[in-house]
Amino acid sequence: MPIEVSTRVRRVKPSPTLAVTARAAKLKAEGNDIIGLGAGEPDFDTPLHIQEAGIAAIRSGATRYTNVDGTPELKDAIIAKFQRDNGLRYSRAQILVSAGAKHTIFNLMMALLNPGDEVVIPAPYWVSYPDMALLADATPVFINAGAGQGYKITPAQLEAAITPRTRLFILNSPSNPTGAAYTRAELVALGAVLARHPRVVIGTDDMYEHIWWGPEPFCSLVTACPDLYDRTVTINGVSKSYAMTGWRIGYCGGPAELITAMSTVQGQSTSNPTSISQKAATVALNGDQGCVATMNAAFKERHDYIVGALNSLQGVSCRPGFGTFYAFADVAGAMAILGLADDNAFAEKLITDALVAVVPGSGFGAPAHMRLSFACSMATLEKAVERIRKVTG
Ligand code: GLU
Repeated sequence: MPIEVSTRVRRVKPSPTLAVTARAAKLKAEGNDIIGLGAGEPDFDTPLHIQEAGIAAIRSGATRYTNVDGTPELKDAIIAKFQRDNGLRYSRAQILVSAGAKHTIFNLMMALLNPGDEVVIPAPYWVSYPDMALLADATPVFINAGAGQGYKITPAQLEAAITPRTRLFILNSPSNPTGAAYTRAELVALGAVLARHPRVVIGTDDMYEHIWWGPEPFCSLVTACPDLYDRTVTINGVSKSYAMTGWRIGYCGGPAELITAMSTVQGQSTSNPTSISQKAATVALNGDQGCVATMNAAFKERHDYIVGALNSLQGVSCRPGFGTFYAFADVAGAMAILGLADDNAFAEKLITDALVAVVPGSGFGAPAHMRLSFACSMATLEKAVERIRKVTG
């Protein structure tokens, strides 16, 4: 007899970004010459001094449980980072270290949400926000921000989306998948709306803070709106900035009571994030930041190339972003030319006919789009574009 799984898990789907990545890896292992532009993962190795810190951690016996919420030394490095980069002050009790920022966001939703609560999510969104809300028995509410408004929500849209049931608002800037980012002035305007709704907790996903080429410096929501400090969880991690995706270290700063509740969720599920990774992350945050700038320069060069190249394809248009390593292209025209029903069929055609794996836009709440990760070499990107051109013309 088939095992009936929980109603909770039946509400959600597997992560589309991870599904595309797994499919590309499988096809590659079977001998196909696939170019995987699916997963958002830097192609760089973790910088050497951080690798060495991990090795030294193993050798020195840092292989046991740590505090559930993170080691004091890593918390201090995170406190220094928030102060240095964002002008934000936190105490150790306000910091939680988790197994990646994805885990941080999951802990936040589990610790905060009740059945019937609403989570306001700007679309296009990162694929896991809505499903995490559903796992936490809450209801995702989307604000659609299309290319015409630079993929950014307006204060009026935010005001209209908030109801008495709204418990959480998620902001991701620069955005995965679009690369769009809010200016300080735009954050202040969104903050003015949030100031009128004191029950709403805010989660800002700043994961791509250091992959940035916007016209003004990166600004986190609470940096722009200090009055929201008491109800904002500022989320970040080392995965993207330091090419440490596999090490799984994310972190956040926020109100102590909420951080304690999130830590309880973590203590009853995964316990501490990996001891060795915490040692390496401490060195990443405290050490020389030159590696971050070097990788950022490479991402910017690839961004400029891929946005231009995508716009040269028939029926494809792509707005430049302010950061991240994703290009999010509108492929409605190409779909029409090729007679394809939706972006899933378009992505399927690319993987089958061009051997290029991309993530369909519907997974991000934006049908008729595709997301390409440009966290790969220029040569790979050029090859991918030529292959796609053979399909789209
Ligand atoms: N955040 C990355 C992405 O969007 C990694 C995969 C995931 O966890 O979604 O591709």
